[in-house]
Amino acid sequence: MKALEDKILKDGIVLNNEILKVDSFVNHQIDSKLLVEISKDIKNHFNNVDKIVTIEISGIAFAVGVGIEYGGLPVVFAKKTISRTLDVANSYVAEVKSFTKGTLNQIRIDKKFLTKGERILIIDDFLASGNAAIGLIEILKQAGCEIVGVSAIIEKRFQGGRKRLEDLGVEVYCPASIDSFADGKPVFHKD
Ligand code: 5GP
Repeated sequence: MKALEDKILKDGIVLNNEILKVDSFVNHQIDSKLLVEISKDIKNHFNNVDKIVTIEISGIAFAVGVGIEYGGLPVVFAKKTISRTLDVANSYVAEVKSFTKGTLNQIRIDKKFLTKGERILIIDDFLASGNAAIGLIEILKQAGCEIVGVSAIIEKRFQGGRKRLEDLGVEVYCPASIDSFADGKPVFHKD
């Protein structure tokens, strides 16, 4: 998606050849106009979706944007922390290693928000090693849901996430797909 690639080249900052900082339009401040364009682009790639699933925090805004494009689908986000309002005993759980923090988190979704046979599109901000998406897939399999696909706003192909998901038979579509970082700039994948 050209508008997103242009924005990344203009405002993204590459850290240690590993992390792309996009806090001025994705992870801290959000560019709502670009969010709508991204949401439309993702919607054009997947059909027959019943529900959107994401993981807190940065995936939520984009998941809602995509849900709206499908005419108002429910959006469920996995929680990374336990609170008194989460019914832990009646939740699906998976372990996910955080790419940016290196810590191990348990992610949970209350069983009442996933129904067997529902067709789910997974949305996240980034796809790197694929751990977050695979944790969500584990939860969706526990619930007996069907996985329509995974869409991250930005993927870094060189960190292996896409390959792991495709090896599981999951379709991946990302509006911005980065093959590598060269001289501190992203090099976008060309099909
Ligand atoms: P994965 O689990 O695929 O290794 O990493 C995906 C998660 O790590 C995303 O949910 C995102 O929050 C975070 N992440 C991975 N790479 C980056 C990056 O380059 N920049 C930012 N801001 N977050 C990232």
